[in-house]
Amino acid sequence: MKPLFNILSFAKSLWRYYVVIGVFTVLLSILTLLQPLFIGWVIDEIRKGTGTNMRYVLLLAVLIFVIDVAVTVFSNIGGYYGDQLSLKLNRLLSRRYFAHLLELPQSYYDTELTGTIINRLNRSINQITDFVQMMSNAFLQFLFSTVFMLVIVAYYSWPTALIMLTIYPIYIWLTTRSSAKWQAWQGEKNQALDLATGRFGEVINQVKVVKSFIGQRLELRHFDQQYKKALDVNKPQSKYWHTHDIYRRIVLGILFFLIYLYIFYEGARGRLTPGAVVTLVLYAMQIRIPIFTISMLVDRTQRAIADSKDYFEVMRLEPTITDKPAAPALRIKKGAITFRDVVFRYTSDKPVLKGVDLAIKPHTKVALVGESGEGKTTLTNLLLRLYQPTGGTIEIDGQNIMDVTQASLRRQIGVVFQEPALFSGTVRENIAYGRPEATDAEIIQAARDANAHEFIEKLEHGYDTTIGERGVRLSGGQKQRVAIARALLKNAPILILDEATSSLDSRSEQLVQEALERLMKSRTTLIIAHRLSTVQHVDQIVTLKDGRIDEIGSPKQLARTGGIYAQLLALQNQKPGDQRDTGLKAFDMAEK
Ligand code: ADP
Ligand code: MG
Repeated sequence: MKPLFNILSFAKSLWRYYVVIGVFTVLLSILTLLQPLFIGWVIDEIRKGTGTNMRYVLLLAVLIFVIDVAVTVFSNIGGYYGDQLSLKLNRLLSRRYFAHLLELPQSYYDTELTGTIINRLNRSINQITDFVQMMSNAFLQFLFSTVFMLVIVAYYSWPTALIMLTIYPIYIWLTTRSSAKWQAWQGEKNQALDLATGRFGEVINQVKVVKSFIGQRLELRHFDQQYKKALDVNKPQSKYWHTHDIYRRIVLGILFFLIYLYIFYEGARGRLTPGAVVTLVLYAMQIRIPIFTISMLVDRTQRAIADSKDYFEVMRLEPTITDKPAAPALRIKKGAITFRDVVFRYTSDKPVLKGVDLAIKPHTKVALVGESGEGKTTLTNLLLRLYQPTGGTIEIDGQNIMDVTQASLRRQIGVVFQEPALFSGTVRENIAYGRPEATDAEIIQAARDANAHEFIEKLEHGYDTTIGERGVRLSGGQKQRVAIARALLKNAPILILDEATSSLDSRSEQLVQEALERLMKSRTTLIIAHRLSTVQHVDQIVTLKDGRIDEIGSPKQLARTGGIYAQLLALQNQKPGDQRDTGLKAFDMAEK
């Protein structure tokens, strides 16, 4: 019952639509229910032969026609509101899911495939919408027409009404009996399908990798396997359902057989007029509809519960990273960053950072150097509060980042990621993402400082050129410069640079480098350097080893200590070759 309540309470803000739809369905059922009654009256009237009141018969015929027209009109009006309801509900569910996902911590995304997340949403929305529509359309109608019909039938013949009444509990009982087993199967099926779709999305996103490793067949096989799992479950599930449906319907058939027998018998004995017999038979036929409706209701309910389970599970996840109540905004006067004994682990196993102490002076450039996997990126994730330290504190200008609002913290930190991720849209929109209220002049200035203005001007539509999915492809260096322009426009006092890859050609690289220099001016910058040349120009180098800070010092100082940086310098001076390159690679470094 709880999941049902969940679904209904989620959609309760749309109650006006349910009411309107409910009113129309009730009107509809009253109208349809009047028809058998009128037909019975007509039959009894025309049995009088020549004494038939033709005006009365004609009036009834016209009424039957008018009812037909009214039914058509009302059902379409109801349908119109149904359509509105369905899209509104869709928006409501999707938006809440989206908003919730955006609040979930980064760690949630470490374990979920994008496709899975999306598939779950689609499935839940379809089923919930179906269910709610069904409820608003059929439930009232079912309730109303059943009561109405039973009252009329009871008026003619109360034993017939009594037999009809017993059908409901028997039928509902037969339908629900199969529910638990069916739902368990459905859960398994959904899991397999989610995995298939999740992988599907991943593959499409990285189709280049798949092709270059000739992975197509492998991917298709994986896809087939997941579907096979779903099919394997589907077979017994469907068989089970349909077998039960046969039982149900046979029981129903027997009950109706008894009802008809009784009506015919009563008619033959003269206790019912032929008109009453027809009316009752028509009602008996019509009552099948609400009975099927109720089994459909039960069926849809089962589906909705099973298929929205994952959705509600996601919705129940608590965002673990939240602002404290009445948290103040971060105020930056200088931009000093202090890590105090920071300990961090991603999952329960061994910590990545085992106690990092680091004080970064305002307006300085600090390079993080360490072997790949030592936790350089992790340190910046913590500063952005995408994850929270397991122990220790991080302060900016003396304010613990846990105590201020996340928005104010992230507003003050500009980030240029190693992989410049842009959105599909125009170049202008992408730059303006750094500060949506920026003027055109400011956007252009940012692009100039990022050495991007020149190439943007040369694009077919300049700043209005669409890039990404449906637009122009930019080169790696161009994307990087747009990303830098975006960060420049944000104009944050603290900067995190996961430096551009060295895969850029040397001209782009130089342009990017210049842009970065401009970006770093008078800001506190944390650089994860991928080139020794960058490291040579920072104020301080921080080397990481075994989850702790190994050395801190200026490039000059560290060149002589024999530590990590000194070793890297030595590697650099070796003659070019495999050994040198693998040595540098271990530190996420490229030559130069
Ligand atoms: P670096 O940037 O220095 O190469 P990272 O900070 O990315 O290293 O990673 C540090 C360690 O944490 C690595 O051992 C990596 O496997 C692990 N790690 C990184 N990201 C995650 C994550 N999202 N979930 C679990 N472990 C992670
Ligand atoms: Mg990294």
